[in-house]
This record gives sequence, structure tokens and C-alpha cells, in this order.
Amino acid sequence: MHCNGSCRQYKAESNSREGGRYEQGQKRCPQCELFIEWEGLWCPCCGRLLRTKPRARKLKQRLALKHAME
Ligand SMILES: [Zn+2]
Ligand SMILES: [Zn+2]
Repeated sequence: MHCNGSCRQYKAESNSREGGRYEQGQKRCPQCELFIEWEGLWCPCCGRLLRTKPRARKLKQRLALKHAME
């Protein structure tokens, strides 16, 4: 399934509040490539599983360290 534009009505407004967007309950659809405010786990537009957590920072740091040692 592809993005049909219906996700726009759920589009999360960017704001200046502290904290990440995931912490504010916003979810990101990898297919539609935008943050939406939606209760469900799946995108109401394309049906993809929504990302609800930021990428693990620890893993990234570990990978960076590994690269530095190589
Ligand atoms: Zn969409
Ligand atoms: Zn979507």
C-alpha cells in the first residue's frame, strides 16, 4: 500500500516544546515520511507499522566506537 494523502489530516504540527516528538505521543510513518498524531499502531493512510520510539542512541554510539577502533 502506498501513501494516498489521507495521512495529512493527522499530521502532527511541529512545535517548540521540550522533548522529542515520540515523547509527545507523535508517531512516524516510514512510508508517508511524516509524523502523525494517531492512536493506533498502524498508519491510517498506508497501513504501515508506525515508529513509536526514537532510534536507540546506545547502539549508534557503540557502532561509532567500533568504527573508531577499526
Ligand atoms: Zn500517507
Ligand atoms: Zn503512512
